[in-house]
Amino acid sequence: MVRQILKEYNVKGGKMDQHFLIDAAALDEIVDSAQLEPSDIVLEIGGGIGNLSERIAPRVSKLIIIELDPQMIHVLKSRLAVYENVEIVQGDVMDVDLSKLSFNKIVANLPYSISSDITLKFLQHDFDLAVLMYQYEFAQRLTAEPGGKDYGRLSVHVQYKADASLIFKVPNNSFEPAPKVDSAAIQLIPRPASYSVLSEDFFFSVTKAMFSQRRKKIKNTLLGSPLKSEMPDLKEVLDKMSDLPLGSSFVSAALKNKTVGDLLSMRAEDLSPADIAYFSNLLYGQKSKS
Ligand code: SAH
Repeated sequence: MVRQILKEYNVKGGKMDQHFLIDAAALDEIVDSAQLEPSDIVLEIGGGIGNLSERIAPRVSKLIIIELDPQMIHVLKSRLAVYENVEIVQGDVMDVDLSKLSFNKIVANLPYSISSDITLKFLQHDFDLAVLMYQYEFAQRLTAEPGGKDYGRLSVHVQYKADASLIFKVPNNSFEPAPKVDSAAIQLIPRPASYSVLSEDFFFSVTKAMFSQRRKKIKNTLLGSPLKSEMPDLKEVLDKMSDLPLGSSFVSAALKNKTVGDLLSMRAEDLSPADIAYFSNLLYGQKSKS
């Protein structure tokens, strides 16, 4: 069915991250996972030929599609003409001010080259739920728990704001043209902040610094990182903080009744996103003083 449409409109794909999902069961499962309600306003990124869009539009109050390629816009307008609740925005999603659009859910088979940037952009906005398709390896990093090799900056940046779970894997031959790698659908549910960071920029800097050498102890990694230029007295500050008790806010069992010094002798991959957020807040407090 989807293959026929590609043929009818003479769409080849392959450029601009165009890999069309042709497996009807996978398309249905993505839409089912979004638990659509008649009152929902859904944002879709990269509508392509509309194979997800045509499943979403009849079930919601409004569907807003952002699509970069004029050829795809033409196909979308033609195929979705029967729906009066579809708004098509032509442009690069990275240039669109999402706060000007009102939506409560996001559903997309994303352009993979912007996976990281677009996910962080989504998380700057309020929404109830997103179902997003990514490269499988990226999906694993996004949902990774502390301890493993996939756990890193991306996992921390996303999971401090949202619950991320891998819903199902999709083999590469479910797409036309087939990409080299497999994919996976992810469900993202932003949660009310159970903890807050005093400065998000500083939290991101600390996370980046901590994971720059993930096998080393955090203290040595931080002292060898660009954070040192942001805080010239970093060594003195860390030494001074060393005996501070971590308190009950730290969620990892390994940190119960421990001190900042104990944390500094661990590795970044052993800390949860909440641990890193709390530590970054402690350090931020010292930064403001120095
Ligand atoms: N939803 C369709 C197509 C997914 S392919 C399906 O599931 O089959 C990704 C789509 O994103 C393509 O249509 C491509 O033209 C579009 N795209 C690529 N980069 C984009 C960007 N920066 N902003 C908006 N759309 C983009």
